[in-house]
Amino acid sequence: MNYSEPLQTVMEAYSSIKENTIEGRYLHLGHIAPLLKKHTENFRIEEIGRSVLDQPIHYVEIGAGSIKILAWSQMHGNESTTTKAVFDLLNAANLLQNVPEMKVILETCRIRIIPMLNPDGAKAYTRVNANEIDLNRDAKKLKEPESNVLRKEFDEFQPDFCLNLHDQRTIFSAGKVAEPATLSFLTPSMDAERSVFPEREKSMQVIVSIYKHLQSVLPGRIGRYDDAYNINCTGDAFQTLGVPTLLFEAGHAPNDYKRDKVREYVFAALFSALYSIASGRYLENKSSIYDQIPQNEKLFNDIILRNALINNQKLDVSIQYKEELENETLKFVPIIEKIAPDIPNFAHWEIELKDQKIEFPELNNLHENVIVNKIVLNGDIWTLKRE
Ligand SMILES: [Zn+2]
Repeated sequence: MNYSEPLQTVMEAYSSIKENTIEGRYLHLGHIAPLLKKHTENFRIEEIGRSVLDQPIHYVEIGAGSIKILAWSQMHGNESTTTKAVFDLLNAANLLQNVPEMKVILETCRIRIIPMLNPDGAKAYTRVNANEIDLNRDAKKLKEPESNVLRKEFDEFQPDFCLNLHDQRTIFSAGKVAEPATLSFLTPSMDAERSVFPEREKSMQVIVSIYKHLQSVLPGRIGRYDDAYNINCTGDAFQTLGVPTLLFEAGHAPNDYKRDKVREYVFAALFSALYSIASGRYLENKSSIYDQIPQNEKLFNDIILRNALINNQKLDVSIQYKEELENETLKFVPIIEKIAPDIPNFAHWEIELKDQKIEFPELNNLHENVIVNKIVLNGDIWTLKRE
């Protein structure tokens, strides 16, 4: 399926603006430094602080309008998909500046983007920073230098909207169905009662725009994240301070563990949000549609071996990949999560064994929480490991 208006023209040009020098999941400052250098000719770029390990944190500013938007990516170092989409957006702002939908964004908005808030976590491929703190739980205490960089930018820039950009795990489904949550969104709560104040309503309306614009390419694969209130989370904190804030979560699409396809959807969602804000079209949306977006559920495993004969018992084996960095390369290590009859989850890869006996050549005895790189079925080796 194709993208519909107002995304169509820009998405038709996507292959020409995709930043091809970055790909895959492992993305650190060494990868984006040359791109920041390249874009100094096009945009205002400032170093706005340093990480625990003294690595620079930058913003890139695009547009010259009056609506101010603050976005940040890779607050969690191992969540790089939205960063790739941000660099696609920078190319689009440069190369497609005369496309009417892009033009209205650049003329109406001033968008400050921090592409990598947690460069130390990005290098080590960890969620946390170098002090092992989750920056998205540090919004109130503000103990970490990276949290202070973001908060200072928020206070000084005084944005009208915030975009908080993340990745989510492969376990999420969009509702109680066998559809992966390829993208998920959230307008964080502003109090424990999850009240809908006007600021929160605005961010709901922008999410409704994205939901409508991406329906044709991701039917049934857009989810809504849980909105339990936590003032330690950055999105909740900023929205409580009265700035409409949207959380983006890049998720799983079939066979896209490197998230290079999902990156395109994230770019489309970013563009959709910016266009809706710039054009004011989001105000036409009923915020109640937000509640119709299916809520994320944790119903997926990466792999399930179905109906295997193990020790004369018919059993399912669920397997989840653990992402591990080995010599600068990211590996997806398969680990057994559960061995039980009729595991109710869905899987991105289901292997139906029809009561056939399988062997686990690496294991002396089969149990949960062990690595299982391969299985043997009728003398054939099936590799479960991924790179
Ligand atoms: Zn995250």
